[in-house]
Amino acid sequence: MVRQDDFSQHGFQLINTKYIAEVNSECYYLEHVKSGAKLFKIANDDENKTFSIAFRTLPDSDNGIAHIMEHGVLNGSINFPVKSPFDILSQGSLNTFLNAMTSRDLTQYPVASLNEKDFFNLMHVYLDAVFNPLLLDDPRILRQEGWHYELVAKNEKLRYNGVVYNEMKGAFSNPYRLLHYYNLKSLFPDNSIGKESGGLPESIVTLTQAEFVNFHRQYYHPSNAFIFLYGNGSLEKELKFIDEKYLNRYRKQFTPPSLKLQRGFEKMREEQHFYPIPENEPTEQKTFLCLNFVVGESADYALSFALNVLCEVVFNQESSTIKKVIREANDKQTISAFVSDFQQNVLTIIVQNSDTAEAESCKQLILNTLEKEIRKGIDTEELRAVLNRMEFSIREGNDAQKGITYFSQIKSGWLYADNPFVGLEYEAYLDFVKSKIETDYFEKLIEDYILRNNHASFIVMTPKAGLEVENQKLEEERLESYKNSLSDEEIEQLITETKALLAFQNEENSPENIAKIPMLSLEDINPTATFHTCKVKKLGKNKLLHYEDFTNGIIYSYLFFNLQVIPQKLIPYAALLSNITGLLNTEKYSYGELQRELNNHSGGFSTYTSSFLSDKDVNALSTYFVVSSKFLSKNCKQMSRLLTEILLKSLLDDEKRLKEVLLNHFSEVNNLILKGYSIARTRVHSYFSPEGAFDEIASGIHYYNFINDFMHNLDKKLPIIIKNLKNVIETLFTKENLFIAVTCDKNDFSTYKTAISEFFSSLPDRKQALQMWNFEFTNKNEGIQTSSKVQYVVAGYNYRKLGYEWNGKMHVLNQILSTDWLKNQIRVQGGAYGGFSSISPNGSLLFSSFRDPNLSKTLNIFKKTADFVRNFDADKQQMTRFIIGTIAYLDTPQTIEQKGLAAFYYHLLERTLENLQNDREAVLNVTPDDIRQFAPMLDEIIEQNYFCVYGNERIIETEKEIFKNIFYLKK
Ligand SMILES: [Zn+2]
Repeated sequence: MVRQDDFSQHGFQLINTKYIAEVNSECYYLEHVKSGAKLFKIANDDENKTFSIAFRTLPDSDNGIAHIMEHGVLNGSINFPVKSPFDILSQGSLNTFLNAMTSRDLTQYPVASLNEKDFFNLMHVYLDAVFNPLLLDDPRILRQEGWHYELVAKNEKLRYNGVVYNEMKGAFSNPYRLLHYYNLKSLFPDNSIGKESGGLPESIVTLTQAEFVNFHRQYYHPSNAFIFLYGNGSLEKELKFIDEKYLNRYRKQFTPPSLKLQRGFEKMREEQHFYPIPENEPTEQKTFLCLNFVVGESADYALSFALNVLCEVVFNQESSTIKKVIREANDKQTISAFVSDFQQNVLTIIVQNSDTAEAESCKQLILNTLEKEIRKGIDTEELRAVLNRMEFSIREGNDAQKGITYFSQIKSGWLYADNPFVGLEYEAYLDFVKSKIETDYFEKLIEDYILRNNHASFIVMTPKAGLEVENQKLEEERLESYKNSLSDEEIEQLITETKALLAFQNEENSPENIAKIPMLSLEDINPTATFHTCKVKKLGKNKLLHYEDFTNGIIYSYLFFNLQVIPQKLIPYAALLSNITGLLNTEKYSYGELQRELNNHSGGFSTYTSSFLSDKDVNALSTYFVVSSKFLSKNCKQMSRLLTEILLKSLLDDEKRLKEVLLNHFSEVNNLILKGYSIARTRVHSYFSPEGAFDEIASGIHYYNFINDFMHNLDKKLPIIIKNLKNVIETLFTKENLFIAVTCDKNDFSTYKTAISEFFSSLPDRKQALQMWNFEFTNKNEGIQTSSKVQYVVAGYNYRKLGYEWNGKMHVLNQILSTDWLKNQIRVQGGAYGGFSSISPNGSLLFSSFRDPNLSKTLNIFKKTADFVRNFDADKQQMTRFIIGTIAYLDTPQTIEQKGLAAFYYHLLERTLENLQNDREAVLNVTPDDIRQFAPMLDEIIEQNYFCVYGNERIIETEKEIFKNIFYLKK
């Protein structure tokens, strides 16, 4: 306990304190008297100490000012005058979390660390960043992080560049982001919730330095600050530091800004908008329909929780009436709903794969179905089952960054009701919602908040082929005519500014300034590697791995079926099976009943394919079909029975249901193509690695084409699909082909073993040989054309294939390439959102760019990596920084579930404590010369010339000579 004296000594007064059982913590709510800053501490014995400072930020336009400010303050401050203290920290601190995020009405700067000294260092740098940033006097920061005109030579094209500008171009390449933008804009025309705090690219380029500085003055003051602390740090020491170094210098000077509630509407707003798809692509069944409702306030946690339960039961359960009705109207259409907790909650109902002509009738159908639901009454069994699953995950609290999660839970109560405690006290709102199950409470929610609510909007977002190219042309014309309007001197001025910015970015920080950033020494680092080990036990003749830890009665169960028993041509069917398992009718249950059984007895069930390459042999691929579930030990028996039911007794011959599931999966798969980075990465991996080749078939473009292919003629192809799925099931799910892994404590292990034996004995006995899979490897160097506004460029190869071996020092090489070389070249100078590398013990080495405005320019930077490494040098302090940053990455905190999984994979990969300890020692003892030794390896990797680019259709077309093949990725 901390006494009042301790608070007042450091300028704070206690507003309230409470022990909160739900989080087993003593909580303190304080105010800094002189400055008016509010502070909330959750004190417990968690070593992962968390600090966060947040400001209520209320932008009045779409120019992204709050988001650019978030980037900008992290670009140097008075006490830490280097270009990017954030990057130096991420290079060389033991932080377990370091980030900053902007939402519609809040900007937050959280950090976490297990090491006390490091924690105070991080706090220091972050507080200085937000209160004393260099951006107020240095306009180059807005130009770099926000936007600027880029003109390298008089006859070149004028263009826009900037980190946030490109980041948001990337973000808005996703139609869901655009839809979200229109939804909120329609509901909140008069307050900041309706403004795009991240920034709309065309609006970002209107932001001026004067506005920027003014925004800081307006919002970045202690009187408007929400300071959050979590963990086992000494509160007294923390308060002393924050008071003496920062808050004490400020006086409470204004009433903090608050967000005005948006007034309701006379009637529902209706709007139609467009989103881009590639040129010549058909537009059928690609319209998004959204019904949005403003529903109460998020500080009312019981209401918000009830609304989430409602959405699950009425809209998101596979067997819900509304899902059936929507599907019957048009078999490709899907519906779902979710609640967003802005100050005023928003409930969004979204229909995908619709047609614009059907919009009105679809809306009526939804509303009519809800009317009928109310009259019929919501199924209480269904409510109970869904509530049970949600309660499981609340109680499980499966999260390695508890401080970060708790902040997001308390946010609404703190910001909008001045009560930071209420969000943690979940027993109260669980009880409330449980007590309403047998009443008409949920029906009333639908009635009051959906059917009789005019604070609502109906948004129709229609695809338009070639819209992106059209927009680009317009932007180019605008830039062209702007350029033409400039005098020769003004043009010269732009060229000079472009060069000056580049020179600024290339300038090295002075060693004296770098030395000002506080850091740990190698003595502060734990010299012992973290390792998790499992016991190898037996179930009959089969292997049963057990990771033992205290899990509070939860069992994490994994069934690993070896996929290599199936012929290569069936791999996509095995992947398909992993995506639809648990959704079909079974002998005993309809799919709705099955879902209910799972909700009642488990906290989650999923199936997926897993692939990994041996550390020792570049051709030794392991692949599994994994059945993962978590449940309380009292539910072991029933879960074991459900596993038998799902895996062995699903009714594939029930064509009607199978078709529904496939159509639904088809729409999920079509969203895969928005994941530019993972597509390019998997694709380039598939050029040289069996793991990549497998992943490409199981989840990449290959899989995407496989699904699209049969979807175009589903009825005709159904028999062959059924036959192949059955074939996979028969081959895969046998006794011989299985091993089991489980995370739980000692007592629950025997309960689990007895229960799972029942499942095990239900599997057929069948011996089968492993199949030969042959993948072809060659550098295909493809350009994948899409309507994305930005590129994802990935290049690399397997160094083991070139005769090099893994060495723990490569961890540090990766840290240097990612946080120094590629970050500086691709993000800071190139304007991409990210540039980084990855190096694995299995040989894979990749260079990547993320949301990148460039293409061959980035590839050329990758090519220069070997030269960078050849000429690499660092003084002792810089080298220590890289080492500490590497260790922080290796020691990322994990939940028990993650530790268990790590233990299983170490076992499968035959990685030992000794391996990891050797790696750690290599990291701790690395020298600049060791790093330079990697240059020849990088030379050879670059010489192989393997790359793949996912990006904008037009940019790929313009640079097509560098590719062996370019093609469109379209629905
Ligand atoms: Zn950002």
